[in-house]
Amino acid sequence: MAAPKVAVVGAGVVGLSTALCIAETCPSCSVTVLSDQFSPNTTSDVAAGMLIPHTYPGTPIHVQKQWFKETFTYLFALSNSTEASEAGIHLVSGWQIFKTAPTPKEELPFWSDVVLGFRPMSEAELQKFPRHQFGQAFTTLKCDCPPYLLWLEKRLKAAGVQMYTRKVADLWELHSEYNIVVNCTGIGAHQLVGDEKLFPVRGQVLKVHAPWVKNFIRDGDGLTYIYPGIHRVTLGGTREKERWSLSPDPGTTKDIFDRCCSLEPSLRGAQDTKVKVGLRPSRWCVRLEREVLSRGGVKLLVVHNYGHGAGGFSVHRGTAKEAARLVGECIAALRGSSSRAKL
Ligand code: FAD
Repeated sequence: MAAPKVAVVGAGVVGLSTALCIAETCPSCSVTVLSDQFSPNTTSDVAAGMLIPHTYPGTPIHVQKQWFKETFTYLFALSNSTEASEAGIHLVSGWQIFKTAPTPKEELPFWSDVVLGFRPMSEAELQKFPRHQFGQAFTTLKCDCPPYLLWLEKRLKAAGVQMYTRKVADLWELHSEYNIVVNCTGIGAHQLVGDEKLFPVRGQVLKVHAPWVKNFIRDGDGLTYIYPGIHRVTLGGTREKERWSLSPDPGTTKDIFDRCCSLEPSLRGAQDTKVKVGLRPSRWCVRLEREVLSRGGVKLLVVHNYGHGAGGFSVHRGTAKEAARLVGECIAALRGSSSRAKL
């Protein structure tokens, strides 16, 4: 069989990292990325990019932990390399704070031994937050976007991966050109494959210039957060289920700013505010599986990797590795059927 041709649809953090894992694990494959939008116009470009996992109720915790661990390990190595600044990856320390003390079960999230130096906050640290009773201090990683997506695109080009702007209306339109199609379309999968279990959770954030803010602060409910990046600080946020609007809401902008200033009053001096909106591709569980589509006796091999909701950056490398493994299974199945056909 000739080199298998793989099309990855989608160029957010999931599509680009999946294409990279496929190119790395199957150098004999010809990999192409097709997407109607590239950076800076994807949901991934809006994200804060913090490695703090969100829990998917329908995915076993040990699987989520594995995805997070693989992502953390990969980015930690990158943060220790000369490419860290170009890739927009850096370590950031800070606090997750709670108005009431969590139950003993909540005190230790499943990812507490993956991030660095996880510990309860001291009384002295808590003095900074008089309205909060309890908190956790740790160091994690942050991906700044667009730099991280541009770095992934550069790696893909170096690996010989082609990238084209194209909207795919139906996965079957790729059948004559590609052996395997990998669906990484985020919220676009709602229309592309008619997934009714996928819904948007709208998020509005502000990106401000406040270079004196060095530590992250996250209110334990996940609604209010301050995440410093290399150049700008992301202030959030909102979680509006089933709301599709991409237009910024001025009332929400003021509300986010006020909430963040109540946690870090020095933000009143922040400048050059940019407002961004993105739709988190949310689902009960990430859809990460093989599917064989069949039409009139013809088969199309598909691997789905979408529905990462509020935690796509936190698990992207782990899910990309698993998607690449599933592509490997599809290739083995294709090789099996082509050698049977020769007999
Ligand atoms: P996208 O980035 O949306 O990429 C999908 C791609 O598919 C796009 O390129 C699109 O153009 C393409 N596409 C769609 N349909 C088609 C089609 N029919 N044909 C061709 N191309 C198509 N996660 C974290 O881990 N940490 C955070 O701190 C964090 N903060 C966030 C803050 C906000 C405000 C938001 C909105 C999200 C945040 N997230 C965070 C979540 C994270 O952004 C998402 O989980 C992640 O970006 C999903 O990546 P994706 O590649 O699946 O989707």
